[in-house]
Amino acid sequence: MGGRETKVTSTAFISHRDCHLHDMGSYHPESPARLSAISDHMIAQGLDHYFAFYDAPLASFEQLLRVHSAFHLERLKRNSPALGIVHLDPDTAMNPHTWNAALRSAGAGVLGVDLVMSREVQNAFCAVRPPGHHAERANAMGFCFFNNIAVAAAHALKAHGLSRVAVIDFDVHHGNGTEDCFKNNEQVLMISMFQHPFYPYSGTDHPASNMLNVPLPSGTNSDEFRQMVNEVWLPRLREFKPEFIFISAGFDAHHEDDLGGMKLHERDFSWVSEQLKQVADETAQGRIVSMLEGGYVLSALARCVAAHIKVLAGL
Ligand SMILES: [Zn+2]
Repeated sequence: MGGRETKVTSTAFISHRDCHLHDMGSYHPESPARLSAISDHMIAQGLDHYFAFYDAPLASFEQLLRVHSAFHLERLKRNSPALGIVHLDPDTAMNPHTWNAALRSAGAGVLGVDLVMSREVQNAFCAVRPPGHHAERANAMGFCFFNNIAVAAAHALKAHGLSRVAVIDFDVHHGNGTEDCFKNNEQVLMISMFQHPFYPYSGTDHPASNMLNVPLPSGTNSDEFRQMVNEVWLPRLREFKPEFIFISAGFDAHHEDDLGGMKLHERDFSWVSEQLKQVADETAQGRIVSMLEGGYVLSALARCVAAHIKVLAGL
């Protein structure tokens, strides 16, 4: 009508102060300081002017139950301490704020999907913790409680009626939880790379045809990563024609991150983000929700997130 085209260009930045209150102990690399480092760097770079900021809502049980068992939710709620810290495994612990932080983290992705689908924004980045991609249907592990990216992808399928969504995971660790939630679900293509052999020692047994896992050796560098993305990831992603692209954005494959042994740089995260944005523009009306996963050296994490969200925002 009238030929006026409205082009949505804004990028949502979704977080919540509750995500800073989840704390597994001063020794733990998955620390509240990660989110502070990201926001401090954004402000120092003047990036905060270019994003639409939103508070993450609490995910509902209905949204969580699309990918998690009722038993998992009940067990987490039951373990949630009134005081102190309760360990679920040697790496994964709850303090009195963890339950709410985990609900906010999952809720951030749901809000991101709603904002993108309503065209209020073009795409969204969720700066949340706890991360999610190790959380299985019925199990918390590896710093993760709810599988945030899986909850978001399931929301796009169930609440918005999409029929094909892709989850791309470039964290240095295999997203075993996302695989557990979506294996054999033909509405979801999961594409990942991860250091192998490495925690959680999964992902090499090709459990289902909708999983494209690329194990890479410690020491993998920029050229090797980009070649793999060009030759393996992108052809399969384009063939699938996703209607929405979800990114498990872990930055622990950065060369400064000593939790992993890979050798990527900020520019590689920019580059892969550009490639994914290009596919989203071709097949998914530009729809992307990206969620923070790993990344543990604070300065590298902050620089990588800035590089990633600048691409999302077209800066
Ligand atoms: Zn990781």
